[in-house]
Amino acid sequence: MVAGTTIDKDLKTITSFAAGKPTTSKSNRTGIVWNPATGEPRAHVEFSSAAEVDATVACALEAFPQWRATPLSRRAEIMFAFHALVHANKRHLAELITLEHGKTLPDALGEVARGLENIEFACGIPNLLKGGFTEQASRGIDVYQIRQPLGVVAGITPFNFPAMVPLWMFPNAIACGNTFILKPSEKDPSPALFLAELMQQAGLPDGVFNIVQGDRVAVDRLLEHPDIKAISFVGSTPVARSIYETATRNGKRVQALGGARNHMLVLPDADIGMAADAAVSAAFGSAGERCMAISIIVAVDTAADPLIAAIRERMANIKIGPGLVDGKDEGNEMGPLITGEHRDRVASYLDIAKSEGATIAVDGRTHPASSRKGFFLGTSLLDSVEPGMRCYEDEIFGPVLGVVRAKTYPEAVAIVNRNQYGNGAAIFTRDGGAARQFQFDVEAGMVGINVPIPVPVASYSFGGWKASLFGDLHMYGPEGVQFYTRAKVVTSRWPDPSTSSVNLGFPQVR
Ligand code: NAD
Repeated sequence: MVAGTTIDKDLKTITSFAAGKPTTSKSNRTGIVWNPATGEPRAHVEFSSAAEVDATVACALEAFPQWRATPLSRRAEIMFAFHALVHANKRHLAELITLEHGKTLPDALGEVARGLENIEFACGIPNLLKGGFTEQASRGIDVYQIRQPLGVVAGITPFNFPAMVPLWMFPNAIACGNTFILKPSEKDPSPALFLAELMQQAGLPDGVFNIVQGDRVAVDRLLEHPDIKAISFVGSTPVARSIYETATRNGKRVQALGGARNHMLVLPDADIGMAADAAVSAAFGSAGERCMAISIIVAVDTAADPLIAAIRERMANIKIGPGLVDGKDEGNEMGPLITGEHRDRVASYLDIAKSEGATIAVDGRTHPASSRKGFFLGTSLLDSVEPGMRCYEDEIFGPVLGVVRAKTYPEAVAIVNRNQYGNGAAIFTRDGGAARQFQFDVEAGMVGINVPIPVPVASYSFGGWKASLFGDLHMYGPEGVQFYTRAKVVTSRWPDPSTSSVNLGFPQVR
């Protein structure tokens, strides 16, 4: 809590959502949802008990048989209606994001736009669930594959994309015929609740999409509940690893996306102005609280000095302030961090970096915005960062950009590949051959060539490598459909009494 802040008992309460309506918790456990731009509490969010999670699972289980039997054309129709509703309400949704997360309104609208892409993808479910058919696989025998939903599935999501990350999961899961339980981040739970209301307005039957608000108590129950068939998780690596281990031990299908340290490799032949624009945008957008933020630049040889100069010049012009002031967007480009605690943790890395021998080229703590009310911190640049330093290895998840200097391309790519994370990686160069080599060499799940934040469009799938993803399937897109369904292969023959006889031999196909 911010020193001197008193919690108003009359604050709005954010509830869970089950069986088509908001549900009130009797757990007597709540969390505070802050407005990061003012540092004031905005609401209480109710924390579900294990028994309340059980009740929600029961309701999702009850809804499953009928939803599973709902024709694909009707499921698509609901997705189209949901898409139209999200589109019509995008400003309100973005305002909720800005008020609870702190990102600027244009950034929040960008988040909604990327979320809408995932709903568009799910609208194509009749096409996405087409199976394969082999006629005459053997004499008089046809073989075909169908994909069927799993049952009740759950999603657990992080604070940094309170609308988009849930939209990575539930439209596909539901369109595939599953019923869904979402546990949003307790730090900014309102956008998800609003999406649940819009799903209901779109005509989704009660119990198909449910929300349990809460903390670890709710998550732990979801991980052990025998009626939950699959878990999609997005969050930090230690939690992702533990969720993967626990849920797989309990027999569930799991995709658990973790943290990141995304490197941007800049070759000496790159357009330095373009690379600096990209680095500043990708490092400081959303105050660096993006899993695809560029947080490390690997500057090769002579690229380093001019690049650092160009980045510093651009950093000085970033407008830092609240994303909304009295409901208006005042054109600020970077907002606050999510909580005061997180802001202090991020700032602590500047002293750590100095003690480790890195240079603080720009110290965000001295920026006037850092002394504003709210959880603000100016942008920082660290030079001469080296692998092994905590300011390099740890996911700082704030507006701190580190520069590692490398002499050659092989040295630079080896640095990227030795890092524990492998979410995104980018190269900036004018040399097509070098870019192609990087694409071949780099150990990361998403690669940008002169593109700093290569988040795949919804018709591909999103996921990192190494400590950035635990599980086999990436999220959304075709792998999302695969994750939320299981294959069944049918071998069929229609009675033809004229060829029928008893044969105890193993069935032959020729
Ligand atoms: P977090 O791991 O603290 O929380 C994520 C979710 O897990 C929340 O719903 C939270 O309530 C729950 N949770 C937290 N601790 C738990 C525990 N011990 N047991 C069970 N559940 C727990 O992450 P965050 O701070 O909300 O989000 C930021 C992190 O998410 C960063 O590490 C970021 O890189 C990562 N992220 C990754 C991706 C990706 O696609 N790889 C996308 C967005 C965010």
